[in-house]
Amino acid sequence: SKRARLDRFISSQKGINRKHVRLLLAKGLVEIDGVVARDIGQIIDEFSHICLDGEVLQSNTPSYVMLHKPVGVVSATVDDKHKTVIDLLTDKSKHSLHIVGRLDLNTSGLLLLTNDGRWSKKLMSPDHKVGKLYRVTLQNPLDESYVKAFAEGMYFEFEDIITKPAHLELVDSHTALVTLVEGRYHQIKRMFGRFRNPVIGLHRISVGNIILDPHLTPGMSRTLTPQEILL
Ligand code: URA
Repeated sequence: SKRARLDRFISSQKGINRKHVRLLLAKGLVEIDGVVARDIGQIIDEFSHICLDGEVLQSNTPSYVMLHKPVGVVSATVDDKHKTVIDLLTDKSKHSLHIVGRLDLNTSGLLLLTNDGRWSKKLMSPDHKVGKLYRVTLQNPLDESYVKAFAEGMYFEFEDIITKPAHLELVDSHTALVTLVEGRYHQIKRMFGRFRNPVIGLHRISVGNIILDPHLTPGMSRTLTPQEILL
């Protein structure tokens, strides 16, 4: 996302025509990531550092954050009733971040935020089949029949879809580990709803290879390591 041709970008930023942009490039006045740009058709993205005759036109640093979302905090950037996950962050550029896969108000655990649209798109894409692992606490006892039903998928009338195969592992009589590769609205609650078994606790443990850091208490966050950012 946010990829553009260099000449289009400068033209729209400065309100000048592309012929004028070509002239500026010919004079060697445009630098991309510290290197003089010569090609008007060069493709730039939101993280290219762009300088025109000493003036910085764009300077964004990619940012990736994991938050231990507490129960009662809303997965939104603004809300007039509840505290938002953005309110919990200390990052100075936190207002440029977007949420990668929301959690319900009463769900806790791993929440990812970034300003890198291509990264979040990849993480959320059903084609990439990134597994999201949840620990689920139920009101009523579980049994083996859940395993098959989750693996087979369930028909969701509102969306007119069958859920993708989900992995369910019984932990104890009232606890399961569930892995989803998609994120339908209230998906886990709705799936257990088929068994008339209300979810009383829902916690996300991991997304792909990114595991909630056990050092983070609810409400705390940290930036991702280079290893965690790799998809
Ligand atoms: N499924 C739900 O029902 N809620 C969540 O927050 C995540 C998955």
